[in-house]
Amino acid sequence: MKICPKCKTVYSSYAAACPRCGIQQPERPDDVAPAPKERVRRDWIWILVGVPAFIGLIYLILWIMKLAS
Ligand SMILES: [Zn+2]
Repeated sequence: MKICPKCKTVYSSYAAACPRCGIQQPERPDDVAPAPKERVRRDWIWILVGVPAFIGLIYLILWIMKLAS
C-alpha cells in the first residue's frame, strides 16, 4: 500500500500514481539501506566507546579482586 503525500489517499502499491490527484511517489524510499559511510562511522563510535569501557571493566574487576583478597 502507498499513501499519497498530497491528499493522503491510500492506494495500491502497484499503481504508478495516486488515483485521486495523480501524484507519483518514489518506490519505497524507506527501504533504502543506510549509506556505507554512515555505517562505518557508527562502527568507529562503537570501537571508540567500547574499547575504553572494556579496559575500564577489566580494571574494575582487578580492583574488586584486589579488595576481596
Ligand atoms: Zn493524491
